[in-house]
Amino acid sequence: MQTFDRRFFLKSSLLGAGGALLAGTSPGRALSSSVNAGEEKKPVIRRPLGATGIELPVVSMGVMRADNPELVRAALAAGMVHLDTAHFYQKGRNETMLGEVLKDYKRDAYVISTKVPPEQGEGAAAVTAWLEKLDLSLTRLKLTYVDILYLHGVSSRAEVLNPAMLEAMQRAKTSGRARHIGVSTHKNEPEVLDASVESGVIEVVLSAMNFQQDYREELSHAVDRAAKAGIGVVAMKTMAGGFHDKERKHPINCVAALKWSLQNPHVATAIPGMTSFDMLAQNARVNEDLTLTEEERSDLAYGPAEGGLYCQGCGSCVKGCPHRLPIPELMRAYMYTYGYRDLALAQNLLSKHAAVGAECSTCIRCTATCVKGFDVAGRIADVRRVKEIPEEFLA
Ligand code: SF4
Ligand code: SF4
Repeated sequence: MQTFDRRFFLKSSLLGAGGALLAGTSPGRALSSSVNAGEEKKPVIRRPLGATGIELPVVSMGVMRADNPELVRAALAAGMVHLDTAHFYQKGRNETMLGEVLKDYKRDAYVISTKVPPEQGEGAAAVTAWLEKLDLSLTRLKLTYVDILYLHGVSSRAEVLNPAMLEAMQRAKTSGRARHIGVSTHKNEPEVLDASVESGVIEVVLSAMNFQQDYREELSHAVDRAAKAGIGVVAMKTMAGGFHDKERKHPINCVAALKWSLQNPHVATAIPGMTSFDMLAQNARVNEDLTLTEEERSDLAYGPAEGGLYCQGCGSCVKGCPHRLPIPELMRAYMYTYGYRDLALAQNLLSKHAAVGAECSTCIRCTATCVKGFDVAGRIADVRRVKEIPEEFLA
């Protein structure tokens, strides 16, 4: 593994300089000439992104937790031409880092997406505020437009069809600041996909999608309906937290999980988060072969008694909580903390919520019952400490 990965990185780096960097190749063309140069070549699997006219390799790069510009360059050299970021990742530093990288590439050598969170208000003020955030993202990225612009983190039909946000996204598109518009979702994904079809204007949906979702069949049908309507579907959270347990003794087979998320041919691409060259090399190989081996299937069938780290986002626990805590979001922060070991990301999510568990001290016993058997109060007690960590330790 080590030998291959070093060889992969060297080739990727060299070919990055002479390939995507200078040639201005169209998206997806670089991989076949990089990862396997001099080795057995397999065609890269590419799929259309709905009706956008964009075609992508099935594996793209989730940049969210990456802070190494060289890793992004290696991903581009490896043909992972689609890079996904967001307005608030690393408090804006993620977009800034990408801007420093992308200024050296021709604009048609990559496909970039970013996400801007919904504004709480209504009307013109909300539209303006949202577009101002987009403009800040573009400034950080040193770009005049992004290829895909998502409304970040919606989880209901009402949020998808919010008139102010639909108007803001359409204005971003008509003003040339986004080629295509979409929504991203971590919760109630089938409802969000159907609402996106209903909107008549949303072109791409970035959806959590993994083998641990209890509703995966329902989600797959919703993906099919969206694809039939011309919407491009992109998968995220494919690794379901990366580990089954808080102690990280039981890792998820991430290659198997990534392949699993791409078994539905209507999923155009997946954006697994990558933070190391080993991960990049591993994921690049999936771009050439999505076949799940028997061993990989067996790994995915493993089910820990305590329900794993992945929260279904079903919300069924919330009705049992007298304080109506945002338990799905707190459980996601728990997954970021113990699965990803990304305390900054967890803190960022926690910072969006006023109630993060101090209320639990008023309960004699926790009445928020989890369908997966999570110890909800215990997990909240663990994760709420992350909110108190001084930012200087997390930067
Ligand atoms: S212990 Fe916490 S999560 Fe459980 S019911 Fe009470 S406030 Fe809600
Ligand atoms: S019931 Fe369990 S799986 Fe469902 S949202 Fe609550 S914590 Fe998550």
